[in-house]
Amino acid sequence: MGKRMTELELLNSFDEALENGHIFVCYQPKMNHATRRMIGAEALMRWNDPVNGMQYPSDFIPVLESSDLIYKADLYVFDCVCRFQRKMLDKDIPSVPISFNMSRHDIIQNDYISELEKIRRKYDIPVKMLHAEITESSAIGGMELITKTLNQLHELGYFVEMDDFGSGYSSLNVLKDLNVDMIKLDMRFLSGDIGGRGGTIISSIVQMSKWLNTPVVAEGVETLAQADYMRSIGCIYIQGYLYSKPVTEAEFEAMLSNISSESSLKSMELISTMDAGRFWDPNSLETLIFNNYVGGAALFRYVDGKCDILRINQKYMKEIGMNMSEKEILCSDPMESFDEQNRTIFENALKLAAETGDEVSCETWRNVCSKICGSDRICVRSDIRMIGKAEDQYIFYAMVRNITSEKKRFSEITDSERKFRMASEQINVYAWEYYFSTKEMRPCYRCMRDLGLPAVVENYPAPVFENGLFPLDYKDMYYEMLDKLKHGEKYLEAVIPLTVGRIPFLIRYTTEFDENGTPLKAYGSAELVRSDKPE
Ligand code: C2E
Ligand code: CA
Ligand code: CA
Repeated sequence: MGKRMTELELLNSFDEALENGHIFVCYQPKMNHATRRMIGAEALMRWNDPVNGMQYPSDFIPVLESSDLIYKADLYVFDCVCRFQRKMLDKDIPSVPISFNMSRHDIIQNDYISELEKIRRKYDIPVKMLHAEITESSAIGGMELITKTLNQLHELGYFVEMDDFGSGYSSLNVLKDLNVDMIKLDMRFLSGDIGGRGGTIISSIVQMSKWLNTPVVAEGVETLAQADYMRSIGCIYIQGYLYSKPVTEAEFEAMLSNISSESSLKSMELISTMDAGRFWDPNSLETLIFNNYVGGAALFRYVDGKCDILRINQKYMKEIGMNMSEKEILCSDPMESFDEQNRTIFENALKLAAETGDEVSCETWRNVCSKICGSDRICVRSDIRMIGKAEDQYIFYAMVRNITSEKKRFSEITDSERKFRMASEQINVYAWEYYFSTKEMRPCYRCMRDLGLPAVVENYPAPVFENGLFPLDYKDMYYEMLDKLKHGEKYLEAVIPLTVGRIPFLIRYTTEFDENGTPLKAYGSAELVRSDKPE
């Protein structure tokens, strides 16, 4: 380990480091601990600076991420990996799939995946020889981007691994929504005695992953005891210092030439093997998982158009809300909470789940009624899986999420946006929104069309004084106006001569507050002051 470089030193020497091979790739094998064969490897970035010596990813990756250079670096790593796989193919050395790390910052760039594909095709590498590692933290700020990325990768045939599972953003619900091909469980995040609580968490995750039919690889495995323990609970794939530290390309090539490999992964057993008896035992592992590692969940029996709820967890009661007791929920038939249309949606989902054996999702509105809160209409997303069947009875397992507020907010937003646009077109006013915290101004369509404003004006109002839309001698007054709004003024107006013609407009602002009473944004409008107004 060399001298740690400062952020500035790293940023300044990045281009040169890429060009001169100071940034390069090391490989760490992934092993099958049952057969001791190599099943894959992970590409890890290294930076050996000629002056300061070896730099480690935990130091330089965050710097590259904060400056968007990570995109370039990751594509470079991918290029090195493909070049290496090409070399193995040409030399006839049997290789293993190599995984590359994808940063959250990579997938924000639209063309990242098409760039990967260009490189892969340049070297003509079968897609199965490349695995993508994504981290759960990519789901921060919404599932949309990560879901889209995952779908794109899958469409192209990539195998996708969920990295750093257990690191804190973990939620089995996230995992369940993302259809990844493998989970990487980092032992370092779950340290502590594997005989105690740490072990319970690990084995619960492995157990749950079997239900999801997704294999697990344990990483950061340093001791034989850890590896044996993992194997004993059904996780045979291991990556860590126990087998090998990350090694240079040349060393890795030598490894591949000398040991036999096994490139196909076995998938784990299905949920149908679940031990139903243990599920009802309050002290069993299954119960622990049910209560702690999933969101709202319920087991119910469906017979002849009727549902019996057999079992729910604590989080289920929270999701459904309405302050209902467990007993109240268990005694109610969810089927009766639907109207005609929603009942059909729900029953179709059950049918599909029973026919295919796959998990099926649906969103339904229900009328719920509780002693404490009275009645209300809520929207619930259910992910349903059939886990048992006997004659005309079906047992389903459902994970539920109350999405009422999301649904409402969405329709409110689309509604208010539509009104806003229509109104401004009709009554000859210019309208916009101004966000206090980001100083962003979002103009209406008319402003964009007539005044040539972009969809978002940053650092408002500086640009409108710079481009002459507002007269400079009104600058102090206008800034003061926005400042007052920011500090809680509810409504302000002023006449300001605008545009090249300096035509007087009446500017009005109304402030919107969040639920704590903090000013959030202001709605602004500008209306022509008519000279022909009666006195
Ligand atoms: P990661 O993806 O979780 O990679 C595994 C890290 O664990 C590696 O650290 C590896 O050297 C280390 N490791 C493996 N086995 C053991 C073990 O038995 N014990 C211990 N204590 N550590 C072990 P490394 O190479 O320092 O990388 C750190 C992180 O930097 C990576 O974590 C990954 O998040 C990031 N990273 C590395 N290379 C790249 C890259 O090419 N692109 C991007 N975006 N990130 C990278
Ligand atoms: Ca990784
Ligand atoms: Ca990891």
